Amino acid sequence: MTRTTVVAGGAGFVGSHVCDRLIERGEQVVCVDNLSTGRLGNVLDLIGHPAFRFLDADVAAPDFTDALREHLGGDRVDAVMHLASPASPPEYLRRPIDTLDVGSIGTRQLLEIARRDGARFFLASTSEVYGDPLVHPQVETYWGHVNPIGERSVYDESKRFAEALTMAYHRTYELDVRIVRIFNTYGPRMQAADGRVVTNFIDQALRGRPITIYGDGSQTRSFCYVDDEVRGLLALLDGPVTGPVNIGNPGEFTMLELAALVLELTGSDSELVYRPLPSDDPRVRRPDISLAREHLGWDPSIELREGLERTIAWFTAALEAGSAEPRIRR
Ligand code: NAD
Ligand code: UDP
Repeated sequence: MTRTTVVAGGAGFVGSHVCDRLIERGEQVVCVDNLSTGRLGNVLDLIGHPAFRFLDADVAAPDFTDALREHLGGDRVDAVMHLASPASPPEYLRRPIDTLDVGSIGTRQLLEIARRDGARFFLASTSEVYGDPLVHPQVETYWGHVNPIGERSVYDESKRFAEALTMAYHRTYELDVRIVRIFNTYGPRMQAADGRVVTNFIDQALRGRPITIYGDGSQTRSFCYVDDEVRGLLALLDGPVTGPVNIGNPGEFTMLELAALVLELTGSDSELVYRPLPSDDPRVRRPDISLAREHLGWDPSIELREGLERTIAWFTAALEAGSAEPRIRR
């Protein structure tokens, strides 16, 4: 029997690649998205495909469950993947309450859909649950160092609550669940204007604008190319481990190193300019991926240089086609 998977946030950057892979392997996909930070263009190639359906809906809205049921028309769901949430700091800081709602109310409503059908529930959590970490690299057993009332807490605590709720459903109802902690992921279909560092640097370099370094640029991040990331997500979805499991590339770079690489690969002579560091910006971030390696047989294969080359090629083409311009915000 063909499997049916609901992908909440499926018109976003990561979610749209997930939809592609699920369709490629023969599943029915119901993509649910309110297009707040995603765009229909990300799934344009899938629209009209007989196995793909799109529902424009807010997963935290009171009428969401009925709307999805009606859309499913009696079809049973095999898996519910919850990737709906703003992910870029400027985006979640712009919509703090929505961000808390999608991690709390949205997670609850999607968990209920999974429970009713006995489906597997998959939560896209984040390395941000580790906050500004005091353990480095970050292992899944580390509880994190999050400022619960800081600006970033709307995202961090929303995801921490979503993890807690998911585990409560697992323990209370024996719901089959998977939790992934995604580390910084980049690649084609990110929005040029979404404010994350990889897109900012590439967009600035390609347009010959100054590269904005926040703070002194010595903070580190670990960047995973989207194809590797999605392969890891699906290995977790299919595999035997509940999680949480870190999925990210352990290569660790300072923001100054990232800027230098982007300048080299784009051949840009943009200057570096220094801007204030956002509040509670983590100093370091690198995943320990022993769990994913051991239990899922997963390892990233695309290093930063190659991933950036592919991403820059995609942004160059998008810029030339005029499709990398900021979208109209809802
Ligand atoms: P994105 O903003 O491109 O995608 C999120 C999608 O969710 C968008 O299409 C948006 O319109 C949709 N959405 C937001 N709120 C919604 C709501 N209430 N109802 C329905 N749809 C809603 O971000 P992304 O980078 O693709 O991130 C996808 C998921 O992965 C998010 O849950 C994010 O927290 C998680 N994650 C991503 C990264 C990363 O580096 N990309 C890192 C850690 C975690
Ligand atoms: N950053 C930067 N310049 C930018 C955007 C971001 O130096 O134009 C920094 C940011 O302060 C953080 C890192 O790059 O230290 C990664 O930021 P991003 O928003 O991509 O993701 P985060 O890991 O903070 O969620």
